[in-house]
Amino acid sequence: IENPRLILSVEDLTVSFDGFKAVDGLNLYIAPNECRVIIGPNGAGKTTVLDLICGRTRATSGSVEFKGMELLKMREDQIVHAGVGRKFQTPSVYEDLTVFENLEISYPRGYSVFGALAFRRTAEVRERIEEVAEVIFLSDHLDQKSAHLSHGQKQWLEIGMLLIQDPQLLMLDEPVAGMSVAERVKTAELLNRIIADRSVIVVEHDMKFVEEIATRVTVLHRGKLLAEGSMAHVQADPDVIEVYLGH
Ligand code: ADP
Repeated sequence: IENPRLILSVEDLTVSFDGFKAVDGLNLYIAPNECRVIIGPNGAGKTTVLDLICGRTRATSGSVEFKGMELLKMREDQIVHAGVGRKFQTPSVYEDLTVFENLEISYPRGYSVFGALAFRRTAEVRERIEEVAEVIFLSDHLDQKSAHLSHGQKQWLEIGMLLIQDPQLLMLDEPVAGMSVAERVKTAELLNRIIADRSVIVVEHDMKFVEEIATRVTVLHRGKLLAEGSMAHVQADPDVIEVYLGH
């Protein structure tokens, strides 16, 4: 059933690897302007859920509806084009290019026979790059080679390379891994800002960070939904306590 107030409806999502169900009958409903955080023990299926939504891994069964489209029937590049951005754990910026150039080559455009770097640098593109650079705290680093950025700044740049494509849904896998405390605080600020215009799904282990960013938390365990709700709600859930503290 299509609910216009949802940006993403995941229903009965299942994937088996050699008979082992890494994700098992999962329902997940994401509203606009939501930052949903998926938590759960190692091997719970968190990363696999992101892989299924972005088309990297093929589901065994279920449905993933995004803005009226069935993502499970689409290729990974079509899903990106539809407005779903995915950031992986390791930053993959172009080290030899400046911050500006990294954002520029990520700007959406039709394919050109002149190649990626030959396309016209219009005022509109420059304005959008400056806007995104501000959101990712890199306004003062636009002309700097990416190789010289800190690990955290590279992570932000990669988020910027997704934001410039204006996705309605952004999925981030452990965005603060390896970041300094100061960078974590700024990343929380970044996420709280960007949900004004889009929804975000984050896989995260750092509970203090989860508390700062989550509008709702989904707890996965053995591929299944264990609990869902506010951080306070899931933290008080006996099943969640058992999984995290039990043996
Ligand atoms: P999490 O992100 O919660 O730590 P994952 O989604 O990475 O968990 O993995 C869930 C389970 O699925 C793990 O047991 C993992 O070994 C298994 N798994 C994930 N991807 C594959 C794959 N391509 N082939 C076989 N098993 C996989």
